[in-house]
Amino acid sequence: MLASSHSAHRLPPFAQREAMLLAPYAMHGMRSAGRRHPEPEHGYRGPFQRDRDRILHSSAFRRLSGKMQVFTGDHGDYHRTRLTHTMEVASVARTVGRALLLNEDLIEALALLHDLGHPPFGHAGEDTLAACLAGEGGFSHNTFALTLVEELELRYPDFPGLNLCEETLAGQRFRVDKSPPQVAAEQPLLEVQVVEAADSLTYDGHDLDDAVKLGLVHIAELDECELLRELKRRIRRAHAGLNEAMTRKALVRGLIDLQVTELIDFVRPRLVERGFRSASEARHSDFQIGLPADLREQKSELERFLYRRVYRHDDLMHVRRQAQGRIERLFSTFLARPELLDPLARDRMAVVGPRRAVGEHLAMMTDRFCDQQYALLVDRSRG
Ligand code: MG
Repeated sequence: MLASSHSAHRLPPFAQREAMLLAPYAMHGMRSAGRRHPEPEHGYRGPFQRDRDRILHSSAFRRLSGKMQVFTGDHGDYHRTRLTHTMEVASVARTVGRALLLNEDLIEALALLHDLGHPPFGHAGEDTLAACLAGEGGFSHNTFALTLVEELELRYPDFPGLNLCEETLAGQRFRVDKSPPQVAAEQPLLEVQVVEAADSLTYDGHDLDDAVKLGLVHIAELDECELLRELKRRIRRAHAGLNEAMTRKALVRGLIDLQVTELIDFVRPRLVERGFRSASEARHSDFQIGLPADLREQKSELERFLYRRVYRHDDLMHVRRQAQGRIERLFSTFLARPELLDPLARDRMAVVGPRRAVGEHLAMMTDRFCDQQYALLVDRSRG
């Protein structure tokens, strides 16, 4: 137990802080199941704070800046990248976590980790790699994030990977096989659920913003969605005659604010009422963090709209086809000529087999590096 067996002044600084700030149902660092390779406690950083720092300093994290979220570099420089998406998720998730007295360090670690395994060119890249590796497990960005932090990031002399805490890894594992909540015997930690909710409400907001800014959708067309119609009405009431650009910004801000506020207002009283005495007790209950049913329905309507009007837009389908072609060609090129791979990727072949090693090598690339490799190794060899 956290406070009962230690007097407060003998607790490590992070544990004192957590004892003051976190609810009993939060995942306290003192109760972590620890790391696969045991390490001494840090003088002033808690275990999840260290995980957050390890992820932030990883090579994979830096490469997120060169990976697309929905729009590529060809679309200009206004829109989100995989890195800025990740930072927005972390920000929203920490806001929610703080309001619910959950562990913000764990939440931030999970948020920074959640998209680490994305290949170049977003879901087009992922689908292509999944097809290239069909028959041997396919490819999932959620699983690959685990491969990166458990095996491929080489930063410590004593172990491969980042040696993250069990709770951090379990949070990412949940993303891999999200069992339907009704069936799951054990819920993911509340911190994991907060990051899931934050991811979804973040991309709805920013994809809408990017799509309108880039002219894929006109702001008048957003009235198709009940939620956006209502938000626009509120904006007009508060600021008559606002121009389109400011309306778009107010709309996106309103969309995020409304969802975050509703989420907290809906969840907090229920969480207090249940009175869980530990994170483990909350996990073994049926309690789930989510939006109220009416807002969930409005959010689904918005997501169907985004799917139809943005994600399947001709501009993006073109990017998708181009990315698929490039990744397929690079995959077969590297497979036929492994001497083109760097020594680390060649060593990896002996561990996971040639196809998986080539897939991993491609998955780690940024969009631009993938384009450069294609121009250098495929386009040139054709001409
Ligand atoms: Mg995400």
